[in-house]
Amino acid sequence: MILISSCLAGSMCRYNATHCLETKLHTLIKEKKAVMACPELLGGLSTPREPAEIQGGTGRDVLEGKAQVLTASGKDVTQAFINGANKTLAYARQINATLVVLKENSPSCGSTSIYDGSFQGVKQKGEGVTAALLRKEGFAVMSEEEFLQTWMSHSAED
Ligand code: SF4
Repeated sequence: MILISSCLAGSMCRYNATHCLETKLHTLIKEKKAVMACPELLGGLSTPREPAEIQGGTGRDVLEGKAQVLTASGKDVTQAFINGANKTLAYARQINATLVVLKENSPSCGSTSIYDGSFQGVKQKGEGVTAALLRKEGFAVMSEEEFLQTWMSHSAED
């Protein structure tokens, strides 16, 4: 079973109540090959919500208590992000996920790239809090971009 970020499957759970649907991923859910989760909602946040970015590090640093997640107005939402990561980990274990496909650039779901904390749209290398925890616990995590590239190259070989 594949675990997918809910917004990639069409759920309007992003901070601004939009989705970022990837049709192929939604199809996997319809075919019952995948299920979805939104770590930030699982962590107790609601939609819409203020945008948040990791300050002073990456998701790994947040897990180690060395960085925080703050909203644009400065509210500390670190614990909600950690709670969401832990609940997503529990779900991944429950469904025995063989692959986790997470939305790139998110402070929860980014798997190679996140925003740098300036709220200026600047990206930096690093993982979000959930991506970091799932990888640390041994799950295979990739972004939607990587997944679609892999899937397209396999399709071309068929
Ligand atoms: Fe999408 Fe992840 Fe953000 Fe939820 S936490 S809206 S699943 S990127």
